[in-house]
Amino acid sequence: MLPDPLIRLIDELKRLPGIGPKGAQRLAFHLLKTPREQTDRLVDAVRDVKECVTYCSTCNSITDVDPCALCRNEDRDRRVICVVEEPQNVAAVEKTREFKGLYHVLLGALSPLQGIGPDDLKIKGLLARIGDGVTEVILATNPNVEGEATAIYLARLLKPLGVRVTRIAMGVPVGSDLEYTDEVTMHKAIEGRREV
Ligand code: ZN
Repeated sequence: MLPDPLIRLIDELKRLPGIGPKGAQRLAFHLLKTPREQTDRLVDAVRDVKECVTYCSTCNSITDVDPCALCRNEDRDRRVICVVEEPQNVAAVEKTREFKGLYHVLLGALSPLQGIGPDDLKIKGLLARIGDGVTEVILATNPNVEGEATAIYLARLLKPLGVRVTRIAMGVPVGSDLEYTDEVTMHKAIEGRREV
């Protein structure tokens, strides 16, 4: 029988994505024999991220200053907005160093199966940003079923607002996640974008 605190730790670790009961147990025993200074740093890092990192009120990306550095940067092209699903996708596009516009993070994608509808995504904020001299919206949602459905839905909402709507080229392997797309592929995807 394991001590109660250890059981609690295993239970919490089990909730993390990609960690099953066995993995949680292995991690818990690993933390148990890890030096105190090291586990303190882990605990501090978790607490700091919850206290200091928040979502940008403009683009919904993650930031420790609101609005985020990208939204505040006067050198960015404010006429183009690249729409992505998750904050980590911003980093993937930024790595190409080609895109100079702004971002909008939806914080998800449409998924009827998982009960995720338009109201669960940051769509209203995107529509509100279109008036500000925006001429093009690049839909860079993931090239899978959910990402495609989201892009089609957004195109239908955005086009009547008189803005150019483009979709990234599908050089990105279909069914993949942009988070794991390399810079060259991402660069080609943006360069080869087409009107929808
Ligand atoms: Zn921002």
